Amino acid sequence: MAHFDLEAAERAALWQYLTRELEQYYANTSTLPAAPALDKTGAAAMAEKYSFDQPAPPREAVAHVIEGLSRYAVHTPHPGYYGLFNPRPTFPGILADTLVAAFNPQMAAWSHNPFANEVESYLIREFGQRFGYPENSIDGVFASGGTEANLTAVLCALNRHFPDYANVGLQGLGKQPVLYCSAEAHHSIIRSARVAGLGLKAVRAIPVDDSQRLNARLLSTQIESDLQQGLSPFLIAATAGATGVGAIDPLPDIAAIALKHNLWLHVDAAYGGAAILYPEMKPLLAGIERSHSITFDAHKWLSVPMGAGMFITREKDILSQSFRITADYMPKEASTMAVTDPFTHSIQWSRRFIGLKLYLSLLFFGWEGYAQTVRHQTQMGRLLKKLLRDNGWKLYNDTELPIACFMDPAFEQDEHYAQRLCEKVLQSGRAWISVYRIGKVNTLRACITNYATEEKDVRELLGLLEEARSR
Ligand SMILES: *Cc1c(COP(=O)(O)O)cnc(C)c1O
Repeated sequence: MAHFDLEAAERAALWQYLTRELEQYYANTSTLPAAPALDKTGAAAMAEKYSFDQPAPPREAVAHVIEGLSRYAVHTPHPGYYGLFNPRPTFPGILADTLVAAFNPQMAAWSHNPFANEVESYLIREFGQRFGYPENSIDGVFASGGTEANLTAVLCALNRHFPDYANVGLQGLGKQPVLYCSAEAHHSIIRSARVAGLGLKAVRAIPVDDSQRLNARLLSTQIESDLQQGLSPFLIAATAGATGVGAIDPLPDIAAIALKHNLWLHVDAAYGGAAILYPEMKPLLAGIERSHSITFDAHKWLSVPMGAGMFITREKDILSQSFRITADYMPKEASTMAVTDPFTHSIQWSRRFIGLKLYLSLLFFGWEGYAQTVRHQTQMGRLLKKLLRDNGWKLYNDTELPIACFMDPAFEQDEHYAQRLCEKVLQSGRAWISVYRIGKVNTLRACITNYATEEKDVRELLGLLEEARSR
């Protein structure tokens, strides 16, 4: 029989080896190439190096995985990674995921893990209050990420607007439900509509203004016209920190429209929600407190390992109304207590203790530590934008968040120019940036997504860009 535990001495040696290797990676991430050349053959050969017919020696197996992860990966924890909100994970976040793997809490039923469940509800309440929801009406769940949280929002909004939806389904509604988001909204909103069975035709992607924010006037007109046609608007999904450009939709105007038409207002603040933790940035999110629900990803600006989404709502009974199913086999020890079993509250059933990496990071650094980090990254973003302008680059987005979409204005018409520069920067091994299209222009996109990115790193990126454009 295979003994999955191994012997104590072998475990101790493996722990020691692993922590040494991880510390080596964590301490020296910046010496690795930020983005190695893509090599499908090499990566596949590495993955398939061992057959499972013979067990590999444990230490060799672990070394093999470390090599694969080191050689064939974009190193998102690298200070030169200016990417798509993937953070360098906090150290307590890494410890937390290790703890979770070992204790393996099953979060479906409250009674299996009262402490872990209470930690997650505490965090949901704390963040809900910071976003301005009334203390006593906050509810929510941790999710795999923003995509699951946005799908949760669509389902809650459907259940609120069409109380029969859970029983009769879409067919029984008799009317075509319609939801609204901006043209810059994350595609998980569209995916949610598809997954929920609403179809693409239920989504109205409202054009944006010159600052890439949802145009509230056009939103209003579109809703009126849909109502006139006998359709059934039920949800506005606003964005606070669009994935491409960082735009924050005009939340107060949108909240007024939602109220007027009695629509559910969801704010997708997967990335930008972190602004709530830094007083100087907080006013950017004004109006978010008037929403019915919020998506916020701790695995983005709060820098915990993936994935840690949050769905927070101020409609206390909606999750239950949307997801509650009683199952005879589930534990009932706590049935007389005033507690919530997460499985009655969310898409997931068996659940990982997602919240611990956020809890432990907050225990280590407190709100103040996070405020300082948001401030630092904002400052690095300002520095990046200033250096770009000083060197004759043009900025195409308009946001206080540390995201720059830029191009050499002389080459605006050249479809492929941005891609060529981007490839040169990646080839240097010192940075990762991407290409993002705004209107008719392919721009370069760089986001300060790593709390450890310093002024010298930002200046190095500028140097790489200047060098790329001079060649
Ligand atoms: C990242 C992101 C999402 C998707 O979240 P995942 O955690 O990747 O599932 C949704 N909305 C916005 C605005 C995002 O930035």
